[in-house]
Amino acid sequence: MWQVVGHQWAIALLQNSLTRGNISHAYVFTGSPRIGKTTLALKLARALNCTGEDKPCGECLSCRKISQGIHPDVRMVDLAYQKGLLEEREGSTALGIDAIRSIQSDAALMPFEGRWKVFIIPQAENMTPGAANCLLKTLEEPPPHVVLLLTALHTDLLFPTIVSRCQIFNLRPPSTDLIGQALERRWGLEGERAHLIAALSAGRMGWAVEAAQNEALLKERNERLDELLSLPGARRLERLSFAQRWGSQPERAKEILTLWLGWWRDLLLAKEGCWDKTENIDRRDILAEEAEKHELGEIKEFISSIRKALQQLESNLNLRLALEVLMLDLPSKR
Ligand SMILES: [Zn+2]
Repeated sequence: MWQVVGHQWAIALLQNSLTRGNISHAYVFTGSPRIGKTTLALKLARALNCTGEDKPCGECLSCRKISQGIHPDVRMVDLAYQKGLLEEREGSTALGIDAIRSIQSDAALMPFEGRWKVFIIPQAENMTPGAANCLLKTLEEPPPHVVLLLTALHTDLLFPTIVSRCQIFNLRPPSTDLIGQALERRWGLEGERAHLIAALSAGRMGWAVEAAQNEALLKERNERLDELLSLPGARRLERLSFAQRWGSQPERAKEILTLWLGWWRDLLLAKEGCWDKTENIDRRDILAEEAEKHELGEIKEFISSIRKALQQLESNLNLRLALEVLMLDLPSKR
């Protein structure tokens, strides 16, 4: 039982290669943040080493050890957990060559208990060029018992030489309905709340599950949204102080900008009368009011300003400056 929400085509393909014993030595799962790339990689790691009948069974010792993160043959080379191996690069953290070397020396050993040694590298686009070159050596001549699972936003962000040696799965966000049903069935949420969280998640299953379990997440979203709604009426100085506040926190800034993008996209949809596609379904009254206050062209322009700021954030450009520009682009209320 894979128990993954969405991505059924990918699971069917993976299941098929498992059944036929036709395993690749490297896979890349790509797609937007939090749609379930790492979850799928972990399920594949389980399926590879599962000793149960219906792989991944989720019940056997191997499956349980992998879910607990204590299986000796399955290693998550995660930025957050590998602090000792991080290299500082332009103010952000990157996966350095030492992390990849440590994978290589580990990969040379035979598995301790499982059939496969599995290394999961989430956000592989954060590798330094040195690390990527080092990884390439393993991909060129992988030890027979090793499987590498990478995740990335997009294959374009990885070295083409790496991509060409991996099997690629481009994951699409699961539908709102699918997420809502899963929240009700598997996480026990009541219908209305499941529906709201599913709509707000915009296909980010990881976010949906977190919001289902942590009330603070929705509260935070409401606060940020209120702030967003007050900004078009705010003076220049207040807008710039906003840029200053979030300008040194790239991760938070990314979340806020993603929230804004969703809101302004909703304004566009409201303006066009496409209500069924909107995310912020609990604020439809305000959406309708706000949509009245802005011209269509204004909304479209600001959406592209937000996209631009997000891109600058991804490429590690001066975040505060990007937010200041965005604040000045923000249309005033009529
Ligand atoms: Zn199992």
